[in-house]
Amino acid sequence: MDTEHTGIAIIGGGPAGLTAALYAARGRAKTTVFERGIPGGQIVTTDRIENYPGFPEGLSGAELGDLMARQAEIHGAIIKGFNPVEAIEAADGHFTVVSEEGVFLADAVILATGTTPRKLGIPGEAEFTGRGVSWCATCDGALYRDKEVCVIGGGDAAVEEAMFLTRFASQVHLIHRRDALRATKCLQERAFLNDKIKIHWNRVVTEVIGANDKVSAVRLASTSGEPEEILPLAGVFIFAGIIPASELVENIVELGGMGYVSADVYGKTSVPGLFAAGDVASFGLKQVITAASKGAQAAFEALKYLDEDTATRSK
Ligand code: NAP
Repeated sequence: MDTEHTGIAIIGGGPAGLTAALYAARGRAKTTVFERGIPGGQIVTTDRIENYPGFPEGLSGAELGDLMARQAEIHGAIIKGFNPVEAIEAADGHFTVVSEEGVFLADAVILATGTTPRKLGIPGEAEFTGRGVSWCATCDGALYRDKEVCVIGGGDAAVEEAMFLTRFASQVHLIHRRDALRATKCLQERAFLNDKIKIHWNRVVTEVIGANDKVSAVRLASTSGEPEEILPLAGVFIFAGIIPASELVENIVELGGMGYVSADVYGKTSVPGLFAAGDVASFGLKQVITAASKGAQAAFEALKYLDEDTATRSK
């Protein structure tokens, strides 16, 4: 396999990675973005983004992802979509990035791989994935026209996606393990006003039940001492939080609690030349705007790292 050289390799094409690409390319580094799917990252599956400034009417996640990708490309970044990275190796301040499309030698790396959805680990979850169990309402919602579905979780994702699903489903059961939602207040207000959303407080799903190879019900246990119930439905959407996608670098860089990459406010990790940006390194607020901001900061630092590297080599 041929090897190609790039100045800054950006792993992940979500808001953090694409903003890093914009800044790195404008800083005149040869910039390559590696994205395993469509550029845009997790937001591509978000129906509406209302809290990214500059778009008063909101816009779809797919539109925003596309705009960010085009802007980075206009300024010179190369975006390699559908090209997952399989391994990253670090040696002497430089990096080998092994991707499906080929091997790249990079002078610096910005890791912006984001997060993956948390699985519940309950019986039936794996068995019925793709046959009623889903992690993407935008992708699968239309399959449940006039059917009952449930959404598991009480955060922003669960409440937003539950509302999206009311466009199709006859009833959306929002199942939350506590008696108060975690989601942003304005999202909660809309959910409480939506007749198609029924909230099951203090409940956890302990089993996904199927018949004829597809989901037919869930088993609900109470966290407040009520009897167990069986809730018949056709679809189960799980939004029970996220875990950092840090496995590519787990053997080369210091990880903090829960597997997030340890990075300082500039995005610097324990390995010189390897920076981290966005949700993979963020315990705090996880928003498009915070990811974009961290991407810009990491690119700025990576450009400085390349300048220092060139200066050292020319001595
Ligand atoms: P999250 O905020 O961590 O919420 C996860 C939810 O799942 C919580 O309500 C949690 O319950 C519940 N949960 C966790 N483990 C569970 C289990 N084993 N069984 C049942 N329920 C479980 O995750 P998220 O909603 O995916 O959001 C992730 C981040 O992205 C957040 O920072 C969020 O603000 C951000 N985000 C923002 C937007 C937006 O701004 N519009 C949209 C989507 C996501 P507890 O509440 O009891 O912990």
